[in-house]
Amino acid sequence: MIIGHYAVAMAAKKIAPKTSLGTLIASAALLDLIWPFLLLLGVEQVVIAPGTTAFTPLDFTYYPWSHSLLASVIWGIVFGGVYYAITNYRAGAFVCAVLVPSHWVLDFVVHRPDLPLIPGSDARYGLGLWNSVALTLVVELFIFAIGVVLYAVATRPRDNIGSIGFIVFLVLTLGLYGAAVFGPPPPSVSAIAWTDMGQFLFVALAAFIDRHRHVVR
Ligand SMILES: [Zn+2]
Repeated sequence: MIIGHYAVAMAAKKIAPKTSLGTLIASAALLDLIWPFLLLLGVEQVVIAPGTTAFTPLDFTYYPWSHSLLASVIWGIVFGGVYYAITNYRAGAFVCAVLVPSHWVLDFVVHRPDLPLIPGSDARYGLGLWNSVALTLVVELFIFAIGVVLYAVATRPRDNIGSIGFIVFLVLTLGLYGAAVFGPPPPSVSAIAWTDMGQFLFVALAAFIDRHRHVVR
């Protein structure tokens, strides 16, 4: 799942209005920001296997350090803790700490049973929404729309970057999603890793746009 994580981050702006949307997205997508580094280091593994689910050609064979439930909770505590140490903003730290493992819960809905609860365990979980492209699109786009509306209602543009930039951000996000869904399978694992790192640009763009919007009181 990609844009569903962004949706939860956008929705969270209301609860932590002083936290940048960039930070909120970094939290919700953190496991996918860690994952490409572990792939390149050979610590975690993914196999390109078209047909593994209808939605994605990726078979997530081994990713306990980025994508087990326990790891996600620990990453959340670490990320929330670092954020609190830097900002002293309790609501923001709490929201970040919760957003990180929210990633696992959303992934659990769409992945086939490939998500571990703890590193070292062979048991794998996932409800497999990805077996249907149509259902996945309906559910994920619906969640995304709710997130967009909640963020758009909670904030107001200060200037054109805040208004037009936000729309550009949404279009780019949907474009990335469309490319991932309807594009050809990636040629190699390192290509997957480098493409996934593109999400850092989305974090930066979201942080930039968020500075050009103010929170509605
Ligand atoms: Zn993920």
